[in-house]
This record gives sequence, structure tokens and C-alpha cells, in this order.
Amino acid sequence: MKYDYLVVGAGLYGAVFAYEAKKKGKKVLVIDKRSHIGGNIYTENVENIQVHKYGAHIFHTSDRKIWDYMNQFAQFNHYINSPVAIYKEELYNLPFNMNTFSRLWNIKTPAQAKEIIEKQRREAGITDPQNLEEQALSLAGRDVYEKLIKGYTEKQWGRDCRDLPAFIIKRLPFRFTFDNNYFNDPYQGIPIGGYTGIIEKMLYGIEVMTDTDYFAFRKSNPNIAAKTVFTGMIDEYFGFKLGTLEYRTVRFETEVLDCDNYQGNAVVNYTDREVPYTRIIEHKHFEFGQQPKTVISREYSTEWHSGMEPYYPVNDEKNSALFARYQTLAEQEKTVIFGGRLGGYKYYDMDKVVAAALAEVKTELY
Ligand code: UDP
Repeated sequence: MKYDYLVVGAGLYGAVFAYEAKKKGKKVLVIDKRSHIGGNIYTENVENIQVHKYGAHIFHTSDRKIWDYMNQFAQFNHYINSPVAIYKEELYNLPFNMNTFSRLWNIKTPAQAKEIIEKQRREAGITDPQNLEEQALSLAGRDVYEKLIKGYTEKQWGRDCRDLPAFIIKRLPFRFTFDNNYFNDPYQGIPIGGYTGIIEKMLYGIEVMTDTDYFAFRKSNPNIAAKTVFTGMIDEYFGFKLGTLEYRTVRFETEVLDCDNYQGNAVVNYTDREVPYTRIIEHKHFEFGQQPKTVISREYSTEWHSGMEPYYPVNDEKNSALFARYQTLAEQEKTVIFGGRLGGYKYYDMDKVVAAALAEVKTELY
């Protein structure tokens, strides 16, 4: 066999695995069906601005080892994510914090905010939240839920908040300080020069074939590697034989505008149902850009269908049960490692992807 590992997918998971395998002296081939490396963290230069082509990626972690690991491949800037939310004519800071509450209720102190939320919580009468709606109501009360969560979540997931798992909303901080940092993690930033450079460095000196579809490639090269690291859709790997897992996809409407500052912030969420997109990203603000022009992307979230790019696994009960059955099949494929957001059908952040790849490396190579 020509290679020790065939890595399918040149995204973050595949690139970390390939980098570590090469370091251990293994022969690795990386293939990707797209015409470029980087998967969904790919960034491209437009008007001297790093555009996050498949959605905004902000690196953040609580794990010092993962932070140090990433810093081998790039220098990170001091960007702190602080989105704002527009609900009809009103504008709020995110995540849910004292700035949000003071704007909502014209109050000034944590005690006043807590009193209002406590009252709304009692009115909702939820003790053991079973879904996203109940979780949101019991965490933040009705006003926050109605104005900042319900519409956005239903646009993003295309499902009623009562049919979505509670953990999705637990990703967001909720605090009684005037702190607009979207993340609680101590390490955060955007790689200077973009994410593509990180993947290029990881894959340096490794054979990479882009525009290469695994399923076609496998037919003509059945025995090319001893093992495969598969980061595509796990259900597709098995020919959808147990049924199809659901994914959400995102359509981006990207525009170059002849103005230097369109919205004054990298991320502006539109949380009402009437605006059809979920958010607008103004890419230059991730890197404090001073360019004369700007690039913005409106994000439209829709259900995934064959031929589209899958972005988010839908981790509701039905899909989680189906995934568990695919996982049983995956365990029987002794020469295949499944990883990444699509291979693991998990709503992973980047740091968790790196951690999962490094954990796999440890069992596989050490
Ligand atoms: N969310 C919300 N309102 C917002 C932003 C997020 O209700 O203004 C909810 C929504 O359900 C979303 C989840 O929080 O799916 C996670 O948001 P996050 O910003 O982490 O999503 P991502 O950046 O991964 O798309």
C-alpha cells in the first residue's frame, strides 16, 4: 500500500491529523472534493480583507494546550466577539448581559434585572427544561426569549424551539455584568492573515489532491492506504443505508461595498422573523481593517439537500438516534476513523475539533 493514511477532507480535523501523522513519519495523502483546502474555515482575500467564505469563525478556547497548539501555526489578534442583535427597531448587546437587560427594561443594577427575570421565570413555571424554549424561558425569561432567541433560533434551525434540544442555547453566556464578550473562554482571537494559512502550514510537505471526490477516488484506488480518516458525512459514507441524517446549510450573499464601515461591528444578528437572514457579517472588523471598501455577507439558513454544503448537524432526538446507529456501523469499520463536524455529527467548535483530532492521534499513533 502506498500510504499509511488517506485523509478525506482538508478541513481542520483532517489537517491536524495529517500534520501529526507526518510528524510521526507516516505517509499521508489528503484529498478534498472542493477546489481548495481548509474546509469550512477557509478564508480568502477580497479587497485585502480576509473573507470567511463559509461562515464566520472565531477561535476561542479554555484549553491552554489547544491555544498553544494553534499558535504554532499563526499569530492571533486580540479580537473579542461582541455581536449586537437587531430586533425590529431595537438594538441590543449580546450575549445576554447587563447591557442587554438595561436596554430591555431601562434598569441599571443587577438586582433590578434579576428581579424582572425571576418574575418572568416564575410565570413560565418551568422546573426541568426539556427543550430549547423551556431552557431559554427558565434561563432568561419571556422578554429575552421573545425578542432575542425565538425568531433567530427558528430561522437558524427551521424548527420550532420546542422541538430543539436545550443544549444549543446553553452555548451562550448569560451574566449579570456589563460584559459583551460572547465567549467565556480565556483565549480568543482571529489568526492574522486568515485561517487558510493555518491549514497550509499544517499540510506543508504533505501530498494533497483537491477537486477529488472520495467515493469516485475509492473505486479506482481501493487499496491506496492502510487506514482512512473520513471527515465527510457519516451517513453518506454508508450510502445512506439507514436513512439520511438532517443538516442545516447556510447560503451567503456576499457583497463588496464602496464604503469603509457598513455596520460598525463584525457580527450583527437579526432576531425577528420578518428579516429573512439570520445575521450580517462585516469581515474587516474581525481584523480591525482600515481598507477603503468593505465586504459583507448575509446569512440565510435552510434545510440541507443533496448537492448542498452541510454546515450544522441537527442534534435533535430523531437524528441523534439515527446517528447512534451509524456509529455502531462505524465501530465495525476497523480501518476507518470518523472525525470532524460531519464525521462525528456534532455541533463542534474549532477548539473541540482540534482536541478530538489530537485525542485520535494519541490513540492511533502513540
Ligand atoms: N441564538 C439566539 N439568538 C442570537 C444568537 C444565537 O437565540 O442572537 C441561539 C440560536 O439558537 C443559535 C444558538 O444560540 O443556534 C447558538 O448560537 P451561536 O452564535 O453559538 O451559533 P453559531 O455561531 O455556531 O452559528
